[in-house]
Amino acid sequence: VQRGRIVAAAEVEQSYIMIKPDGVQRGLVGEIISRFEKKGFLLKGLKLFQCSKDLAQEHYKDLKDKPFFPTLIDYITSGPVVCMAWEGVGVVASARKLIGATNPLQAEPGTIRGDLAVQTGRNVVHGSDSPDNGKREISLWFKEGELCEWESVQTPWLIE
Ligand code: UDP
Ligand code: MG
Repeated sequence: VQRGRIVAAAEVEQSYIMIKPDGVQRGLVGEIISRFEKKGFLLKGLKLFQCSKDLAQEHYKDLKDKPFFPTLIDYITSGPVVCMAWEGVGVVASARKLIGATNPLQAEPGTIRGDLAVQTGRNVVHGSDSPDNGKREISLWFKEGELCEWESVQTPWLIE
């Protein structure tokens, strides 16, 4: 199998994926990471992290006028989360499909929320909704130097 330039850099996106405090408390960290690994995306950043209210509010700033905003901030700051940066072609939209609908009762079986959760307010995982938000969220949650530049030996077996 040929090594080298496999996909144009312009096609490669990053998504910010976060296992929420309920996912950590329920012992679902390995299960959730495993789904993105098995799909074939590349893990570029990973940490367990207790976030501040300020950071949670900044992350969800588009929702600040929603009635559920205060309880959402309490939920996200209620315990450690797992912060991840995943990379790949089409990773943003694909991750949203792997995660499933916001309301876990409406999420399809086979998706993370469809298989592992029952309530919108305890839906175990976050995924960026656009490539621009992927960039914004990764730079919000990770500091300079926390992402790892590496190449997976699997890449030539995932992308022709
Ligand atoms: N949320 C909630 N009640 C609602 C809608 C959303 O508690 O009626 C929470 C839920 O945790 C959701 C998060 O707010 O994941 C962000 O909402 P969004 O609409 O962006 O859903 P997502 O992109 O996470 O599917
Ligand atoms: Mg969202």
